[in-house]
Amino acid sequence: MSAPALIGTDLDYAAHCLQEGKLVAIPTETVYGLAGNALNTAAVAQIFLVKGRPHFDPLIVHIPDIDSVERYAVTFPAEARLLAERFWPGPLTLVLPKRDIIPDLVSAGGPTVALRVPNHPLTLELLRKTGLPLAAPSANPFGYISPTRPEHVAAQLGDRISYILDGGPCNIGLESTVVSFAGERPEILRLGGLDPEEIQQLIPELSFSLRQSANPMAPGQLDKHYAPSTRLVLTGNIRQYLAQHQLPPKTVLMMFHHRVPEWPAEQQVVLSTSGTTIEAAQHLFAMMRELDSSGFDLILAEQAPETGLGPAINDRLHRASYQESST
Ligand code: AMP
Ligand code: MG
Repeated sequence: MSAPALIGTDLDYAAHCLQEGKLVAIPTETVYGLAGNALNTAAVAQIFLVKGRPHFDPLIVHIPDIDSVERYAVTFPAEARLLAERFWPGPLTLVLPKRDIIPDLVSAGGPTVALRVPNHPLTLELLRKTGLPLAAPSANPFGYISPTRPEHVAAQLGDRISYILDGGPCNIGLESTVVSFAGERPEILRLGGLDPEEIQQLIPELSFSLRQSANPMAPGQLDKHYAPSTRLVLTGNIRQYLAQHQLPPKTVLMMFHHRVPEWPAEQQVVLSTSGTTIEAAQHLFAMMRELDSSGFDLILAEQAPETGLGPAINDRLHRASYQESST
């Protein structure tokens, strides 16, 4: 099979690569994933290598439907099934006790596996075509901003993967919400593209375990993550921040909804013209990337409101703003 251009929509070629143990970037509704056959240890090892991802950081396994869960998980509790029936395909990852068929490399040596049915027609077709579970973390170098367009993947990993399946821009733009059913009670391990209130409506006793540490249960819990190279500062009150700080001249404001009239218009971007957290989430990572490559010395980001996807957006911004030296 001859290789097509790096970015394209050739499902047969993508399936062929995955069956050969190679890596393919796949579109999902959350972010682009760096996919490999989850049952092939060499392919999984290659994912860690290409991303520069530490091995303590487990991978999400993508599956085509709910019926596939029991192939990879020992148990599928009723409440987990309830969530899967309501939100799959969608931005929800379920952590369940794993079967032995899942390599330890995928689970970072732990007894659980994270499973998700992504909501993207191309990737669902690819999953069905290959019949393989696909391990796929975000398709970016570890710690950097997640990719929400095929060009983002090409720019950073293009020379190290076989193919990028082009599914257009991701329409959610934040990683999945991770819910664990491996402990005594269901708990959210990572905020993401699914509003936690929607989960709580189905599972009222849901708890939150959003630890922040450098030795996390979930990689999205690392203090520094999703980070641009340009210094980023996060503030809940932009006007007060501007009044109280001397900022470098090349400071750009990343506003949630409204611009600041007294700041130069060409040094401001708005995440959501409609003022919704859903729209802001769609634009967040692409905007951070664009600002990161525009020669600014500082990105001053305004917090999103604490409703809907706001807490997940603020979580990403908070980690993007983390500085080792400023603890
Ligand atoms: P990424 O795919 O890079 O966005 O990150 C994978 C996410 O999956 C992490 O943030 C973890 O929260 C989660 N994850 C994957 N496997 C597990 C697992 N076995 N236990 C807990 N969390 C997991
Ligand atoms: Mg990631």
